[in-house]
Amino acid sequence: MMQTRATIQRALVLKTVNELHGHATADQIFERVSQEHPSISRSTVYRNLNFLASDGKILKIRVPDAADFYESKNMPHYHVRCIKCQRLFDVDLDFMTGLENQIKDKHGFDIIDHELTFSGICPDCKRQAEHSDHTVTIEADNDESLSLNGPATTKHHRGGHSKAIALEQ
Ligand SMILES: [Zn+2]
Ligand SMILES: [Zn+2]
Repeated sequence: MMQTRATIQRALVLKTVNELHGHATADQIFERVSQEHPSISRSTVYRNLNFLASDGKILKIRVPDAADFYESKNMPHYHVRCIKCQRLFDVDLDFMTGLENQIKDKHGFDIIDHELTFSGICPDCKRQAEHSDHTVTIEADNDESLSLNGPATTKHHRGGHSKAIALEQ
């Protein structure tokens, strides 16, 4: 009886991961599972994720200083994580098995696996940052002490503020 229930739960977690488009943390997967199955516990989801990953049914991606990510079974590949929104993306780069062989030859190791995760700022966050830079500029323009009604040279001519000139640079 218990085994049947465990099998159903495992299948449910696997199905959820396979339905994800992309990468999700255990927390995000739990949220999703519990939307339809409120009775399933967080620890059950976590335990099954680990089991499925070690069984090779799903991929687990370890990221430095962050929670692990999971994704559906796939060819080995590399990732880039956005330092702003924390999302994980695939990188379009061939998996370097040659690298593993090189280490095997040089150091005598049998290499089992390797992971490579880049960090950066995703296009969405980049766009947002550009937008907020723009907002900062507008705020500065609205600030009376910094407001410029003409070119800096005019201000200077009027014996204007060094602050305003600095802004123009
Ligand atoms: Zn981002
Ligand atoms: Zn991936």
